[in-house]
Amino acid sequence: MRAVVFENWQTFPVLKEVNRPTPGPGEVLLKVAGAGACHSDVAVYNFQEGAPGSVKPAFTLGHENSGWVEELGPGVSGITVGDAFLVYGPIGCGHCKACSRGQDTYCENVAEMPYLGIGLGRDGGMAEYVTVPVRNLVPLGDADPVDAAPLADAGLTPYHAIKLALPHLNGGGRHALVIGLGGLGQIAVQILKALTGATVIATDMKEDAMRMAEANGAITIPGTEGQSERILELTGGKGVDAAFDFVGAGPTINLAASVMAKRSRLTVVGIANGSHEWSFFTTPYESTITNTYWGTIEDLHEVVAMYRAGQIAPQVQRFSLDQALDAYRKLEAGEVSGRAVVVPHA
Ligand code: NAD
Ligand code: ZN
Repeated sequence: MRAVVFENWQTFPVLKEVNRPTPGPGEVLLKVAGAGACHSDVAVYNFQEGAPGSVKPAFTLGHENSGWVEELGPGVSGITVGDAFLVYGPIGCGHCKACSRGQDTYCENVAEMPYLGIGLGRDGGMAEYVTVPVRNLVPLGDADPVDAAPLADAGLTPYHAIKLALPHLNGGGRHALVIGLGGLGQIAVQILKALTGATVIATDMKEDAMRMAEANGAITIPGTEGQSERILELTGGKGVDAAFDFVGAGPTINLAASVMAKRSRLTVVGIANGSHEWSFFTTPYESTITNTYWGTIEDLHEVVAMYRAGQIAPQVQRFSLDQALDAYRKLEAGEVSGRAVVVPHA
């Protein structure tokens, strides 16, 4: 079968012929319906060996997957061949306290694990088939699995970040800020509109991304001079109660930090690794800056419930497996609107 393989540090991936995998004990083989191209993959193949956050090659990319069960591995029962599932990507040890609550992202035994997840050290879904532990399957029922694929990361990651910030958005007259309106940011706007009554302010450098966010219910601010002033004006001078930075560069973290209300929460989700200088008198009282990583499998069940209820709908640009490398080139060039999803069996 064909697969998009990350072969070497700081090297663009290749599309090549590999063996079709066999599901191990407790696993299934999925025929891939959709595999989202996440901006984290760009970081993954550009990392220097040993850099913080790096994952050792070689493996097939694709940590945002959906598919139909093709084959059951030894010992698997209660799963029907042909059914559609979304894949929870993180894989921890499965038995520590974090894994026990479905939060494999914070596995206490991560140092001993051979990989971080499906498409992150272990072969992912940018291929015709992928193997997945049964524990990582989230049923999709009759929902379209191709459009659902982005939920596994571009939906789950903002959902987790927003859910943790809900106490700050609970009540009238609240404001949320979303910076970076790509795969994650567009779904973040939809989740904020569905779960809160907050006014959602959003910004990006790209015009089409701003138009899409407006259609999703946000008020947009152009990425030009005077952004802080305009955001503060929209909040009546108070500042925003929760901000979500889906870029994470120095200028975006500093922009968010400059418009936070007292007792607010700024979540940095983007991994551009920018830094921010903190000091007592320049920080609004009791405001928090934090980061979040992906989400729990319980969160993912809730994201799927929102999708099936029509509350969120990923905006998808489809690519065939032959065009998968183009999808990554376009993502790097900022030419994708919403999420690029590779569809191997079109
Ligand atoms: P994307 O490429 O689809 O979207 C990024 C958007 O940010 C684009 O629309 C781009 O125009 C915009 N942007 C870039 N620089 C900007 C700036 N200075 N000001 C305003 N907008 C700017 O990326 P994505 O797949 O949505 O991922 C977003 C970020 O989140 C990436 O850094 C990715 O690696 C990270 N990520 C983190 C997690 C996590 O668990 N923390 C999970 C998935 C992705
Ligand atoms: Zn664990």
